[in-house]
Amino acid sequence: PPLYRQRYQFVKDLVGKYKPKKVADLGCADCKLLCMLKFCGCIEVLAGVDICGSVMKEKMHRLSPLPVDYLQPREGSLTVTLHHGSVAHKDPCMLGFDLVTCIELIEHLEESELKKFPEVVFGFMAPSRVVISTPNSEFNPLLPGVKLFRNQDHKFEWTQLQFQSWALETAKCYGYSVEFTGVGHPPRGMENVGFCTQIGVFVKKYPQTSVSTQSEKPTEAVFKAVYPSLK
Ligand code: SAM
Repeated sequence: PPLYRQRYQFVKDLVGKYKPKKVADLGCADCKLLCMLKFCGCIEVLAGVDICGSVMKEKMHRLSPLPVDYLQPREGSLTVTLHHGSVAHKDPCMLGFDLVTCIELIEHLEESELKKFPEVVFGFMAPSRVVISTPNSEFNPLLPGVKLFRNQDHKFEWTQLQFQSWALETAKCYGYSVEFTGVGHPPRGMENVGFCTQIGVFVKKYPQTSVSTQSEKPTEAVFKAVYPSLK
């Protein structure tokens, strides 16, 4: 399967393993991952955030219940919401999640946004788990036609050491542990290159209840609700 599918499958497997009830996908783009996660029976709340409102709107109808959802109702209820905003800003709609996924997001952040991102995700949202994926620049020489970066909109692409140092520092600062893995295996004999997509899975060391977290963090709403949309 293509690499993006492998990344989504990685998240889906993680959801199957830890059964989070509330999942937020930051940088959700056209909601492909959210559409896949809709079918995970453990999930009760799904939220997507993206700075680009139009890309979210393009395919968001796919999040609406399908006829099959009425024929074979899921066990629990499912609420899906989409929000237009930046991961560099705190909004109360981001609170209370068990799992936060940031798939191929951080390399699109400007330096100033990347600086604020850990405080928003690990400090403010503070879920029990965070998944972050990003390109591994050490793999680039194996990809045909890639000059500097894999995509024009990438602000940087990190080596394994660069990503791991950033992730370890962030984890230490906010009381998380982090483990590294990835998808897209290097060819045999070139294992030291690492995975094509590098992934960090962060786990909070001292879980708090989301209720106490929420009451300690009054914030003004800055995001715009995109879905369900008011007509
Ligand atoms: N996560 C999706 C996936 O894996 O298919 C899409 C990844 S796409 C390469 C990066 C997305 O991040 C884009 O949709 C972009 O609009 C969004 N993005 C960039 N900067 C952002 C920011 N500051 N806050 C929220 N989303 C942002």
